[in-house]
Amino acid sequence: MRCDGLVAVVTGGGSGIGLACVRAFTAAGARVGVLDLELSGLPGDPGVLGVRADVADRASLGTAVAAVAAAFGGVDILVNNAGISAVGTVEEDDDERWSRVLDVNVSGVARTSAVTLPYLRRSSSAAIVNISSIAATTGLPKRALYSASKGAVHALTLAMAADLVTEGVRVNCVAPGTVDTPWVARLLAGAADPTAEKRQLAARQPTGRLVTADEVAAAVVYLASPATRSVTGTSLAVDGGMSGLRLPAPACPAADRAESGA
Ligand code: NAD
Repeated sequence: MRCDGLVAVVTGGGSGIGLACVRAFTAAGARVGVLDLELSGLPGDPGVLGVRADVADRASLGTAVAAVAAAFGGVDILVNNAGISAVGTVEEDDDERWSRVLDVNVSGVARTSAVTLPYLRRSSSAAIVNISSIAATTGLPKRALYSASKGAVHALTLAMAADLVTEGVRVNCVAPGTVDTPWVARLLAGAADPTAEKRQLAARQPTGRLVTADEVAAAVVYLASPATRSVTGTSLAVDGGMSGLRLPAPACPAADRAESGA
């Protein structure tokens, strides 16, 4: 899955899945522009250029993408990875939170893509990879707003793929399960019993463990690389089997309740 000579832009590339993508793209022979609010974690590599940008701010994106194109001679790949969390039911998140999360997680994808497309159209290996989530297609408790945002990323991926297929720009998304990143570490830090909570998150996935950021990055590079020229408008799950498998649960309180009529 080589990307030799190509230039990738990764939003949110300063941490977690995005940072793993930066490493995977450089290992695959690409140079990478990182657009993030926080750039201190980036590797000191001449093939990696960090530019401070906010996916909620079109002007900062325009300046940042132009800086990457000027430094590396163009842009071939865009990874729309930057995103923020939301934990709650529809009654728990207020209008301000809905606006903020949708602005970053959904409009941020559209905004960054729009700003980058003039460069992508000049590439003969143009590809966009969006980071969706298992939450786009599977009902998870207390993830109403987050799930809505990732469902929109999934739908947006398909619509963008249709709009851009005749122009030679492929658009796909990766739908991770729970990935061991600083994001999940923050989530666990807020739990009453972080160790038990982590065990529960791992048990939710048929593989019995969290997904690694490197595993998600490998899927991103696969979909971005010229090796997948015929792949567009698809979602690739990297979720330990969570979305597609049904295994017998060792203990299922809901089934016990249904059985006893409680
Ligand atoms: P992370 O918090 O480790 O990294 C997110 C990065 O995005 C950070 O560097 C942050 O500074 C940056 N960012 C946030 N808001 C930004 C903005 N407005 N503009 C620019 N950069 C911004 O998170 P992660 O776990 O690596 O998640 C990355 C993506 O993967 C997100 O879209 C998330 O929804 C998705 N995802 C994560 C998981 C998981 O379990 N970790 C599962 C499914 C999907």
